[in-house]
Amino acid sequence: MDTQLESSSISCANCGSLDVRIHHVRSAFWQDDRLVVVQDIPALVCGACAEHFYADTTVVGLDLMRGEGFPSAKARAELSVPVFSFGDRERVKVEP
Ligand SMILES: [Zn+2]
Repeated sequence: MDTQLESSSISCANCGSLDVRIHHVRSAFWQDDRLVVVQDIPALVCGACAEHFYADTTVVGLDLMRGEGFPSAKARAELSVPVFSFGDRERVKVEP
């Protein structure tokens, strides 16, 4: 009995299509009160249903990065991001 290792073909977790491409994306993660951005994440994108998902090894890698606490010394760059409050919007709407 031979074992088939489909190392070159990844099937879509949603529809099972083999038309899956790797797109490098960036994503933001909250760690306590700190927001960090991880870039160059190899996301798998299905050509059939457009589902985005991560390979198990990628999920493990992100978990390891989270476990390390995203040390600032390893950061490639720093971003400053604007912060908004949804409450401000409600206040504007309620006032006459
Ligand atoms: Zn799919």
